[in-house]
Amino acid sequence: MSTSPSVISASRQSVLQRTLGVLGGGQLGRMMADAAHRLGVRIVVLDPTPNSPAGQAADKQIVGDFKNAECIAELAAECDVLTVEIEHVNVDALEASAAKCSIQPSPATIRIIQNKFVQKQHLHARGIALGEFAEVVAGGRQGVMDAAARFGYPLMLKAKCLAYDGRGNAVVKSEQDIDAAIASLSGAAAGGLYAEKWVPFTRELAVMVARGLDGKVVSYPAVETFQRNSICHTVVAPAQISGEILARAAAVAEAAIATFDGAGIFGVELFLLADGTVLLNEIAPRPHNSGHYTIEACHTSQFEQHIRAVMGLPLGSPAMRVGASVMVNVLGSGSSDQDFDNTWALCSSSLSLPSSTSIHWYGKEGVRNGRKVGHVTITGPFMPDVQAALRALGPSFADSPVLESTFKLAPVVSVIMGSDSDLKTMTAAAQILTQFGVPFELTIVSAHRTPQRMMDFAKTAHTRGIKVIIAAAGGAAHLPGMVAAITPLPVIGVPVPLSYLDGQDSLYSIVQMPRGVPVATVAIGNSTNAALLAVRILSVQAPSLLEKMIQYQESMEREVLGKVDKLEQVGWSSYTAAGH
Ligand code: ADP
Ligand code: MG
Repeated sequence: MSTSPSVISASRQSVLQRTLGVLGGGQLGRMMADAAHRLGVRIVVLDPTPNSPAGQAADKQIVGDFKNAECIAELAAECDVLTVEIEHVNVDALEASAAKCSIQPSPATIRIIQNKFVQKQHLHARGIALGEFAEVVAGGRQGVMDAAARFGYPLMLKAKCLAYDGRGNAVVKSEQDIDAAIASLSGAAAGGLYAEKWVPFTRELAVMVARGLDGKVVSYPAVETFQRNSICHTVVAPAQISGEILARAAAVAEAAIATFDGAGIFGVELFLLADGTVLLNEIAPRPHNSGHYTIEACHTSQFEQHIRAVMGLPLGSPAMRVGASVMVNVLGSGSSDQDFDNTWALCSSSLSLPSSTSIHWYGKEGVRNGRKVGHVTITGPFMPDVQAALRALGPSFADSPVLESTFKLAPVVSVIMGSDSDLKTMTAAAQILTQFGVPFELTIVSAHRTPQRMMDFAKTAHTRGIKVIIAAAGGAAHLPGMVAAITPLPVIGVPVPLSYLDGQDSLYSIVQMPRGVPVATVAIGNSTNAALLAVRILSVQAPSLLEKMIQYQESMEREVLGKVDKLEQVGWSSYTAAGH
């Protein structure tokens, strides 16, 4: 029996065309709407600004305040699920709609998170690592002095509620700053203040964590965030830190989100300390600026993941589908027409660049100084490619923290040697890797004198982001083979010539590996070739390295052909006399 393809049963229709209501109409809601449409989910947003960024992309906007109970009830009346793109909503009113529709994440979660102090108490009570904090109970000067007696200066004075983009924070460097700091927070002070001990972080990290209706949690790779004037400026994905710390950041973030009810995506801001400790800074119960890169760089964007989570669909893969990504926020430079043109020019400069650069313009009415109006995301197989694309964006992006000499890339090649006496042989490898712009580490690991260090190194190298190992050894030369027996990574052995046997002993030791444990071997003392082979292995995933390899080969050819010409011109006798 044939059925008409145009008829879809009511139950199927309801699965496909459910409506999601979003409190807030900013850029996060706008990008949520884009993702929702691809999944066949209808979107209605509630925001006081007519034609809001999200309203432009949604099926419908209700013009009204997301703090107003009646407006929230009106939104709830036509939605199957309610969610937020901003945490500063009226939670009581939201709770009142719980009988009419599913609210994700739960109002209880939003209530805890929207008060930073309550959020910290909640996390501290559940064993999540945080910096020290204390309520400023006396409200004014004395309360801050009490906190300073405990934490010392500088300390961070924070508004408990309504804080964003640094508005709601004041640094107190000494007793003299206290009155000004309290005054600067007067707008947000109604909800009360609290103090945080200064955290001497070396980096700021962030992890997006998604939680499904079934409580299942998945996390995105940890990113590094750079703030300027307390506003997120640049996000680097993945953070250029060891795999071990990436995993630690994910564990802290996942453990924190596991303490909350309800589904959705959460942004978890973290501090990394010099000793590798990861502390949680704050949580957002919604998509987050540090997750914008996921649109182009991950299998499932944070926005699609949020829609999947709150609508009860299976979560998607959070893994990156590119090797590297950088996101840069575009902020308004002022409110005049000229400022608007300048700001748009910043974004539009990316339109003429290769497709690895994507622009997002939020469609805000006019621009205001310091306000987020768009962002640019660059992706590539390899972080140096992304840095090159950022440079190509022009002078406005030239001051990026990612282009500063202090910004170190995580090593992808590890050059190890049995003894510091091997260094003179390995200098050439270091020079080649530097020439090709390949981030590498160079260290001493001895199979005979530090066997435990060798075991630890070989077991963890791939988890730290290393892709190729170059191992140099002289004499009995067990290092390359033993490392290859433990690591799953490609190992290139460099036989080092010592005073007896001229390196033939190490060549035989390295090359005569038993079946099943491969070690690539280069000529005795030829670490240049080891580095070139490492570059070729990496170039399988990084076309820019392939391009550089072609140029290297062409320059070698030019060098030899130059010698041929010279020899022809001057003859062998003068050529030799000239010391060539
Ligand atoms: P916002 O809501 O504006 O994101 P945060 O509490 O995250 O507020 O603070 C903004 C920035 O201020 C952080 O990204 C970090 O750079 C800095 N900061 C916040 N708390 C501390 C602290 N306790 N110690 C040092 N720096 C801090
Ligand atoms: Mg923050």
